[in-house]
Amino acid sequence: VIRLVETARRHDLSMPEPETPLVERPWEDVARMLSVDDALRIVLDAVHPLAPVVVPLLEAVGLVAAEPVVADQAIPPFTNSAMDGYAVRASDTLGASVPHPVRLRVVGQLAAGYASRVEISSGTAARIMTGAPLPDGADAVVRFEETDEPERAAAGTTGDTRRSCVGIVRAAKPYDNVRPPGEDVAPGDAIVRAGARLRPAEIGLLAAINRATVAVHPRPRVAILSTGDEVIDVGSRLQPGQIRNSNSYTLAAMVMRAGGIPVMLGIARDRTDDLTEKLNLARGADLIVTSGGVSLGDYDMVKDVLREQGTIQIWQVRMKPGKPLAFGRIGSTPLLGLPGNPVAAAVSFEVFGIPAMRRMMGHADLEPSTIEATLIERIDNRGQRRHFVRARVARSPGGEWQVATAGQQGAGVLSSLARANGLLVIPEDLEVAEPGMRLPVRMLD
Ligand code: AMP
Ligand code: MG
Repeated sequence: VIRLVETARRHDLSMPEPETPLVERPWEDVARMLSVDDALRIVLDAVHPLAPVVVPLLEAVGLVAAEPVVADQAIPPFTNSAMDGYAVRASDTLGASVPHPVRLRVVGQLAAGYASRVEISSGTAARIMTGAPLPDGADAVVRFEETDEPERAAAGTTGDTRRSCVGIVRAAKPYDNVRPPGEDVAPGDAIVRAGARLRPAEIGLLAAINRATVAVHPRPRVAILSTGDEVIDVGSRLQPGQIRNSNSYTLAAMVMRAGGIPVMLGIARDRTDDLTEKLNLARGADLIVTSGGVSLGDYDMVKDVLREQGTIQIWQVRMKPGKPLAFGRIGSTPLLGLPGNPVAAAVSFEVFGIPAMRRMMGHADLEPSTIEATLIERIDNRGQRRHFVRARVARSPGGEWQVATAGQQGAGVLSSLARANGLLVIPEDLEVAEPGMRLPVRMLD
């Protein structure tokens, strides 16, 4: 490595050949590159929420409702006790205190799950459990703690509670510890709107009104294809010159985490027939994602095949890592062609693929959570591209979010992406990010 670097330095390989004018090297001409925002807009304009499907409740977790749901019944359906205690008439308990308890005759024992058959008249009470229907005649519940029952229990003199008396030691007001029907949801209430994300609470509400299924935008099926003669899959023996297919796995994991279903199409050799055949397997997917073969390398024929199979544009996007990007359609299926370098592929998918998936899933909010953090080191950003820096965000002892790079930023260095919990975004026109600057960080965790 050192020898290579020295050779490069001797020959100054990093300098562009001065005799070639910039306009003839469009890939180096930032003015002719597509901005990240324009590229994202084109991608998002080309995808739409997937047609709704009806799924069992637990398959809807994390998905977006495609129908409004209006309650046709009350939750709770009947008046019930919010506490374990005694159902009483509040007026009977006036003036009750520890030194002067009001004594009531206990006329029944009411457990949750049964209709009440007792009636509370003046001077009586019923022992009642949380969730049990409030008996007729009662208008309040006095908690056990506000009766003499704990005391008697401690003294071992509870006796038969159905025939005994209870001492109330605190006055109750009407409706104390009583849940009226519809306290939570009344008939006609909108409990889920179309476009709402179905989180555990929404799932629970749907169950509470007896819905076993709900219409949602389905999980997108994302076909993932890696390309390259040098790429081999996990489990096979590495020959000289070969590298392991990590991209398919990183991308599939990202798809799963975003709520989609990855469809692994394996690896296509850099040959027209192999690529064509593998792309055929992708028909029926909601999105096709390829990695590799969109850069300027001589052996990259992905672009040519894509152009033959569908309508594809190859872009140079003003971003780092991940400048080359292909986007278009194979048949009617949108295709996102990512660069092969592992981090370029992952970051490009994060920036373009995840928002596209989120639109397909019906999410209104397509952007990741972003925080603003104070940079604690200097980062160069020559080249006028938007730099997504693998970074670690942490709170300072003073409670402020601070951000630093998570290691080497080479487009092939996946381990620094693994160390990162966010992508620090340095704007295109900021040549040097200085310590102390407040900059946005797209959170990965
Ligand atoms: P390409 O965009 O095809 O020119 O590939 C750029 C770099 O990414 C090369 O070093 C490839 O070996 C590497 N690469 C391509 N595909 C994969 C993959 N599926 N997994 C890991 N690295 C890859
Ligand atoms: Mg390649």
